[in-house]
Amino acid sequence: MIKKILEKASTEHNLSKDEIIKLLSADDETQKEVFVAANEVRKKYVGDEVHLRGLIEFSNICRQNCLYCGLRRDNDRLKRYRLSPEQIVDYAKNAVNLGYKTIVLQSGEDSFFDVKKMVEIISEIKKFDVALTLSIGEKTLEEYEAYKRAGADRYLIRIETTDKKLYEKYDPEMNFENRIECLKNLKELGYEVGSGCLVGLPEQTLASLADDILFFKDIDADMIGIGPFIPNENTPLCNAKQGDFYLALKVMSVTRLLMPNINIPATTAMETINPNGRIIALQSGANVVMPNVTQDEYRKYYEIYPGKICVNDTPDKCRGCISAKIKSIGRSVSEDKGFRRNV
Ligand code: SAH
Repeated sequence: MIKKILEKASTEHNLSKDEIIKLLSADDETQKEVFVAANEVRKKYVGDEVHLRGLIEFSNICRQNCLYCGLRRDNDRLKRYRLSPEQIVDYAKNAVNLGYKTIVLQSGEDSFFDVKKMVEIISEIKKFDVALTLSIGEKTLEEYEAYKRAGADRYLIRIETTDKKLYEKYDPEMNFENRIECLKNLKELGYEVGSGCLVGLPEQTLASLADDILFFKDIDADMIGIGPFIPNENTPLCNAKQGDFYLALKVMSVTRLLMPNINIPATTAMETINPNGRIIALQSGANVVMPNVTQDEYRKYYEIYPGKICVNDTPDKCRGCISAKIKSIGRSVSEDKGFRRNV
């Protein structure tokens, strides 16, 4: 049964919702076949190169109040920070010197960084001949347009869950349709668009995860980041159960089977709940890693969830460490900007 579905997925890159659910239900014995199939499709379409993206977490101040996220507005136990525009550009420059070809700027929804400031930061970083990705939440079409004109190439905004009821429960005051509108606007403006979901939110079902995967395909996302939900003690979901590593991995692998040429990161959340999580993900369909290039004490204050890896390391050390791991599994670190392959 699983074999037949995998054969179809690997050749046609299309599955029905029921077939996806069957793959997501694969047990400990058979799930390995899903990972192997996704790894083969990855190799065939995007090759053995791994793209590294240098991630700068430049502000943990957020106006939103998502129930799962440690950056939520009402969490008063988090030490808040925001880097100055000069500091952000400086961290980016350091990352470029380490060999990064893509810089990702991520933050909470911090209104201090208005259009004028963001445009300035983007323009400065784009002078370094790198691809630039933004992950700064919901903005207006005009704002997205201004960032694009300033040189931003990509934008990450996860849908988190396509189950509208769950979305509105866990992201109070936010509007599901608006999130979709953001994704649509970004695509129309010519960004490479990244999205993704959390796996293991309370009440989330396999059917809902199957819908998430079909949604990624429907919006033709260029990048999909998938990570297990990790409960944070300073949030209302503190007592919820942690997402399952292998279920998150299956969602990621099935996404690869259905979207063979996109970029898929081995996410930090995967490594947080499994000490070898990123390597396992790279061998199950992923082709991207986003090492942290934030410096100093700020690394530990960007505490979306507990136990985040490498908070006491330096950008230099992280780059060396992940590069060695990538080589140890017979893969190589890409030297280009790593846009979505056109195959
Ligand atoms: N403010 C930006 C960036 C969000 S933080 C935005 O809205 O897009 C990046 C991602 O962290 C989120 O999209 C979410 O999927 C993930 N995240 C938040 N809380 C988490 C948790 N408790 N466990 C695992 N991942 C989490």
